[in-house]
Amino acid sequence: MAEPLQAVKGMNDILPPDSARWEWLEDTVRALMRRYGYLNIRTPIVEPTPLFVRGLGQVTDIVEKEMYSFEDSMNGDQLTLRPENTAGVVRAAIEHSMLYDGGKRLFYIGPMFRHERPQRGRYRQFHQVGVEALGFGGPETDAEVILMARALWRDLGLADVRLELNSLGVPDERRAHRAALIGYLEAHADLLDAEAQRRLHSNPLRILDTKNPAMQDLVNAAPQLMGFLGEGSLKHFHAVKSALDAVGQPFTVNPRLVRGMDYYTHTVFEWVSPKLGAQGTICGGGRYDGLVEMIGGKPAPGVGWGMGLERVLDLLQQSGIAPPALLPDAYAVLPDAAALSPAIATVEALRAAGAAVVMHAGGASGLGSMKSQFKRADASGARFALVFGGNELAQGMVALKPLRDAVAPQVLRPLADPAGWAHELRNA
Ligand code: ATP
Ligand code: MG
Repeated sequence: MAEPLQAVKGMNDILPPDSARWEWLEDTVRALMRRYGYLNIRTPIVEPTPLFVRGLGQVTDIVEKEMYSFEDSMNGDQLTLRPENTAGVVRAAIEHSMLYDGGKRLFYIGPMFRHERPQRGRYRQFHQVGVEALGFGGPETDAEVILMARALWRDLGLADVRLELNSLGVPDERRAHRAALIGYLEAHADLLDAEAQRRLHSNPLRILDTKNPAMQDLVNAAPQLMGFLGEGSLKHFHAVKSALDAVGQPFTVNPRLVRGMDYYTHTVFEWVSPKLGAQGTICGGGRYDGLVEMIGGKPAPGVGWGMGLERVLDLLQQSGIAPPALLPDAYAVLPDAAALSPAIATVEALRAAGAAVVMHAGGASGLGSMKSQFKRADASGARFALVFGGNELAQGMVALKPLRDAVAPQVLRPLADPAGWAHELRNA
């Protein structure tokens, strides 16, 4: 036998019955997007590497160390498995002139790839739902996307997901803050760890994000960007907070929330759960008014978020929330090969009428005993066995035998009219 192969480390198979939880979550997401008027966009999983270098910034965790990048051996192109999808959506919007007639509200669902150390809530292939509202510059759209995430928690039945908020202002304000921050950090250079020293001049804002306990006092006392925001930025931020107040959504303003990507401006936010250990952020996003231009389009504002589906599913499990089981309505039992033709005709008609019916399948040596077929019927979770026995067939009938309710009687139904009684299987 050949040596068995295994999936790539940090990349998971999603198998039944667990895949039903994924489908349920994705269906819930799609229904939500419809209610908010967001349309689905599907972009390639592989993009030109420069898209992410330009879009995310050279000095980000993703671009520095997390990308799966490779050279196309046919033509030497530098390619990358998408680590996130905002840059890809913006590229597509520019390439197809999607914004020529106004803003677009878009969403995506799909796999992302980052070369990180695999652990709970952190994988190398993971899945995100994301929304991108492109071409809308007002604070009402920041509030809209934030509240869409809240609506999803509600649809899913998730409680206690907290909202954290900050404003990163506009580039001029960030530059002024950056200069003050570098001055402050330089004055305390002896307290900086190696990563902070490396980032001091390239991306000092990210130093505020450090997890190093030895640096917490230092970053807590650092000059805050909020103090550098001008009137326009403060007004925008105030309007977002007012909208959240208006719907009674609590939030914490976290001045240290800077987020990983360089492209954010104004509002940034994270939805965080206390139930997920170190990887508590299930959704993060913000406004990115400079990104479209950075990627080569005519300047246009944008705001959106990305949500990690593995983390949402983990939280659903921690919260004891499971989707309704999707079991078949019926399992067709075939005492002998003569039953096959009438059984296939009936089962096809039942399926066409909306019933979920699993047909018994045998092996090379035949269909197997009635006993073994009923065992399979039971294991399928179906509520009924459809028994195509010789006596019943002779009367033009099939027997409906309840499998879950021992006291309910078996009944006969006509082979001639499956559509007339298919509902009995579904509504039982
Ligand atoms: P973290 O701080 O946990 O690394 P991030 O800031 O890198 O997250 P984003 O790039 O904002 O994350 O992605 C949005 C969401 O995608 C995250 O909030 C998280 O739910 C999810 N996510 C990010 N990286 C991973 C990963 N490696 N595995 C699983 N989910 C992830
Ligand atoms: Mg990360």
